Order: sequence, then structure tokens, then C-alpha cells
Amino acid sequence: MERRNFIKNLGVGAAGLAACLSSRVAPAFAKNKPINWKMVTTWPPHFPVLGESADMIAKWVKEMSDGRLNITVYGGGELVPALGVFDAVTQGTVEMGHSASYYWAGKVPAAQFFAAVPFGFNAQSMNSWILNGGGMELWEEVYAPFNLKPLLAGNTGVQMGGWFNKEIKTMADFKGLKMRIPGLGGKVLKKAGGNAILVAGGEIYTNLDRGVIDATEWVGPYHDLKMGFYKAAKYYYYPGWHEPGTAFELTVNTKAWEKLPKDLQAIVDAASYKSNMWVISEFEAKNNDALQELITKHHVQLKQFPDEVLKNLKKLSKEVLDEVAEADPMSRKVYDSFLKFRDNIYAWNKVTEELYQQFKHY
Ligand code: CA
Repeated sequence: MERRNFIKNLGVGAAGLAACLSSRVAPAFAKNKPINWKMVTTWPPHFPVLGESADMIAKWVKEMSDGRLNITVYGGGELVPALGVFDAVTQGTVEMGHSASYYWAGKVPAAQFFAAVPFGFNAQSMNSWILNGGGMELWEEVYAPFNLKPLLAGNTGVQMGGWFNKEIKTMADFKGLKMRIPGLGGKVLKKAGGNAILVAGGEIYTNLDRGVIDATEWVGPYHDLKMGFYKAAKYYYYPGWHEPGTAFELTVNTKAWEKLPKDLQAIVDAASYKSNMWVISEFEAKNNDALQELITKHHVQLKQFPDEVLKNLKKLSKEVLDEVAEADPMSRKVYDSFLKFRDNIYAWNKVTEELYQQFKHY
């Protein structure tokens, strides 16, 4: 790989030099020399939607920069482990990472707020808070000690509650349940008496099929269908109380970012914005067809968590968030910003989205 890149660089460099010499114009050589970056991801190579969107970011950046910035994308485990993305970008082993910030809760508790908060923001509110409501400034502050610049790169929309092999009728059904569920939702499950297990996407199906875990959540019907979970579990619960609009992150090593010319920085920023819109649009456009296929073709039993269960999970979520904020000053700061923005956006939603939901059908 290294050798191939080297030869490629040499080729482009030589061609560029020849072009400059022939036109007798002073070459802006340093500016035009292609920059080669590596992006590691938490997803299997070319994984539907998530891996695809990482591939597309690289493609868009290449197109927009006319080949001046070339990003090679690596699936989880190809260059570093799926959950080794944060460390690899922090250490500068690679320039970029594509993941979700709640995977780093163990290292940086405050990071979780920028992925998903149980009973928290949907995609629209998450975008508003992070991009235009002060969230991004805080996220940059949270990541600065780790040499990381964060960018938003996608959102799943409201997720599904997950795949279970037994029905969830009361809170007692969570007792002893071994479930793959990341982030703050995992902490809520623990409070409910279950065991939250963090497993990267590529290993979930095998764990569920072999009974290493009793249940799993993943994303939503379009992606879950591709993951084949219906072959290993029969109940598909909604709603995804734990992930009402999970954001994906693109991280850039700050030293690499600072070295990048301003126009290329703007191109990376534009590609992340485009991806942020593409991912949510892709999921929302395809989820319902996939859900119908799961029900009619694969005989999955669609179930809603009982109201009483959701009420209790919400109560436990509040306790978890208070505890996270109590234990870590940066989490307190981020949570306060989240709460302030929530009051603001919910007041607006009351006279817009909420009312509209009641009257939207003809
Ligand atoms: Ca999920």
C-alpha cells in the first residue's frame, strides 16, 4: 500500500512538474502536490450506509479538490480495530476517523452527548444544537486535549428499540438481560438490572446467534434487515428510546488539520455537511420498506415497549444523566448546554412539529 502510494505520488508529481516546465510558469508545486490521508472507521469495509458514507466522503473530497486531497478509507480491523479509531486519530497514526462519539464514553464521558442521549434530541434538534446552537464549540473543547477536531457526518434518525428473544412486558424483564447496547442507553439498561455489552457491528450477529448476548439493538429496519438479526431473534421492539437521533462523527487529527490549506479544510467541512444530510435521507427513505419486508417476508413480530416500561426507562435515563454530569465537570458543562437548548427547541416544537404530527394525515 505504502509503496503503491509512493509510486502514485511520484507519477503525479512528475507529471505536474513536466506540465509546469512546459508552460514556463513558476510552479505552485507545494500547493498542487496531492496530499494522501488515511481514514479508519468503526464499520466493516464498505458497510451499507455507514461505511458507504465514509467512502463517499473520500470520493467527494477527491472530486471537490480535483485530486489534491486523497483519502483512503479502511474498515474496522483493516488497519486498526473497529473501536481503536479514537486512539489512532489522537496519536496521529492516521489523519481521520469515522465513528460515533458514544464509543469513547470510557475515555471521554462528555463525548456521549454528541452521539445520542436517551429520550433526548431527534436528528433535527441534534443538528440544530450541534451546528447552530453552541454544541460544536463544546464538542471541540471536549476533543481538544485528544488532538481531535470533530465534524458531524450523519444521523440515523429515531432508531428501533432492538431485537429480543423474549417479550418485554415489565421492567423485571430487563433483569439479567445481556444486551448489546452502547453509550448512555447501556447505563440505563444496567440501572434496570441488565448487562450492557459493547460489541462492534461486525460481531453482533454471531454473538446473538450463539447466545453470548440475549438481545441487541442496532439502527433501524433498513440496516437491521441487512444485518440479518431476524434470523437470530423474533421480537423487534420500538421505539429506540435510547437513540432518538444518533449522530456519526468525522474526526480529524488537529496537527494534520492545521497543515491542510484553507480551501481543502473548507472542502472537508463541506463533504461532512453533505454526508450529514445523505445518511439521514438514506435511512428515512428506506426504513419503512425494510420494516414491511421484515414483517411480511421474515415473520418478525413487531412490538411496542409498554408505556409503563418507557416511563420507567425515562426516569432511569434522567438518573443516569444526572450521575454522569455529577462525576465529570466537562459532562456537566455539555449537559447544561443540552438542557438549555432542549427547553428552547421544545418550546418551539410545541407550536410547530408537535401540533403538526397530530394533523398531518388527510
Ligand atoms: Ca443503535
